[in-house]
Amino acid sequence: MTNTHEQKRTVDAVIVGAGFAGLYILHRLRGLGLTVRVFEAGKGIGGTWYWNRYPGARCDVESMDYSYSFSDDLQQEWRWTERYASQPEILKYINHVADRFDLRRDVTLETRVTAAVFDEATSRWTVRTDRGEEVAAQFCIMATGCLSAAQVPTYPGLERFKGKWYHTGNWPHEGVDFTGQRVGVIGTGSSAIQSIPIIAKQAAHLIVFQRTPNFSVPAHNAPLDPDYERSVKANYADFRRQARESRVGFVVERNDKSALEVSRDEREHEYEARWRRGGLGFSSTFTDLLISKDANDTAADFFHAKIRSIVRDPAVAETLLPRHYPLGTKRLCVDTNYYATFNRDNVSLIDLTKSPIEAITPDGLRTRDQSYAFDRIVFATGFDAMTGALLAIDIRGRGGKPLKEKWAEGPRTYLGVAIAGFPNFFTITGPGSPSVLSNMIVSIEQHADWIADCIEYLRHNGRMAIEEATVEAEDQWVQHVNEVGHLTLYPQANSWYMGANIPGKPRIFMPYIGGVGVYRQKCDEVATKGYEGFRLK
Ligand code: FAD
Ligand code: NAP
Repeated sequence: MTNTHEQKRTVDAVIVGAGFAGLYILHRLRGLGLTVRVFEAGKGIGGTWYWNRYPGARCDVESMDYSYSFSDDLQQEWRWTERYASQPEILKYINHVADRFDLRRDVTLETRVTAAVFDEATSRWTVRTDRGEEVAAQFCIMATGCLSAAQVPTYPGLERFKGKWYHTGNWPHEGVDFTGQRVGVIGTGSSAIQSIPIIAKQAAHLIVFQRTPNFSVPAHNAPLDPDYERSVKANYADFRRQARESRVGFVVERNDKSALEVSRDEREHEYEARWRRGGLGFSSTFTDLLISKDANDTAADFFHAKIRSIVRDPAVAETLLPRHYPLGTKRLCVDTNYYATFNRDNVSLIDLTKSPIEAITPDGLRTRDQSYAFDRIVFATGFDAMTGALLAIDIRGRGGKPLKEKWAEGPRTYLGVAIAGFPNFFTITGPGSPSVLSNMIVSIEQHADWIADCIEYLRHNGRMAIEEATVEAEDQWVQHVNEVGHLTLYPQANSWYMGANIPGKPRIFMPYIGGVGVYRQKCDEVATKGYEGFRLK
């Protein structure tokens, strides 16, 4: 010890992050009899649902789907109140889970992991925190979240802004009252689209700064239908099974027809039906929307007509039309009154493609053409997705090789769960897995179960328990992920899936688009074959 505040402990596993992923893998590893330490940067558990408290924050996967399935008692007891649960309700749920399964005692809050270094001599990971603590562990598990590294653009002048500014992903716990304020919102992704209609109702004036317009489907949120709740609960096991075998981790009504093989009337009818139902199922209206640009254009045309019919000012409507990328290749948004909000007298829209932001000024912000005065600025500018939280930690594998170096050209993993050169190191919903293209809770449970089973296998086989993806298996997986990604339209968009929102980030389609069910089968096959593609010592 070099410092009286430093402590050194040894546990079987360190988990970084206490969101849905960190808490569930904790539960699983404890069940195997492992000693575990969880470190969480936040003052509370819940991850996404702890940090993202902006007005209107809620899930866009329906509540009955967006919940843990590992305990039947839990899923039977818990009662969601709305079709799409709000952030406070999800946070309440995850806190309930933590209490019900006595998870808190292994979680250290307000502690950020700064480094994780593999020691080849001892085959242990040394994990360091910003509080000077050092823990040695056989297994190191990153449950750091795909959307947890908030990104605030580096405009000059932010430090001199006299008003207050916020990022949606790090929202003040006491809430923000926008009543009577002049507010600027930068960004028009899901977080902006959820918060803008609510901020607009409070603010004296709201100006929305849009770089890229988004496709947004109505949520039609409502109190949860008790009959629907009863029917799901009566059959929850089967409901969950179908979700696990599905493409996106929840069951959407599939239509195996091409958008191009049906008549114009049938097409419009199908789109209209999905629009009325609301939610993410829109992108499954036809089977080829995400693989054929011509098919996709028909959906985009439908959207354009909807936006034009809702937004009264034709010039504003035109600015809101997404035109330069296929529908669904940036995450589809789900909203309540988003487009209609632009009919309010106190809301204006600025097109940043015509006049980019140059600086934040003491009084507001300045674009190339004009200055705007604000009391409050909201950055709804998203995250350094999938790799940001991992690369913020100094992770070093065999031979002291930094992950940052290994991933300099983009992330490389085996199954999105392991990395060659990083033994006994796992990522939950890492790049190369379906993660952000799915109902994340389904993907989180699948990864955590797979990792727990792998650890159990290692321990039962009485090994010194070193598992490490081989370079060959990793290369093949990366190639497969790329190939499948490039069969779709996804790479055509400047999305965060492609790293395009972060200046200088390598342009790679990071998640695995093969589908949750297919992916699960591949992972299970690897396990059944004695962890094929891993070197076990
Ligand atoms: P997170 O919830 O992000 O938790 C990771 C935790 O790790 C964080 O608390 C973070 O503080 C901590 N952490 C990171 N780095 C460190 C470090 N170095 N040291 C210590 N702690 C660290 N998904 C869906 O499927 N459906 C939805 O409807 C949906 N809605 C979303 C809405 C919003 C606003 C956002 C931002 C995301 C949404 N997602 C949704 C994705 C969501 O992130 C996942 O569903 C899920 O909550 C992720 O859980 P997680 O535990 O993997 O990560
Ligand atoms: P996002 O989708 O990345 O949107 C960020 C927005 O900010 C985009 O419009 C982006 O424009 C803009 N932006 C970024 N940097 C900018 C800059 N320097 N100047 C001007 N504009 C800039 O982030 P998000 O809205 O927080 O959502 C992230 C993901 O979290 C979602 O895709 C979804 O997976 C999840 N989420 C889900 C929900 C839900 O409904 N349940 C709600 C919120 C978030 P460009 O498009 O041009 O980059």
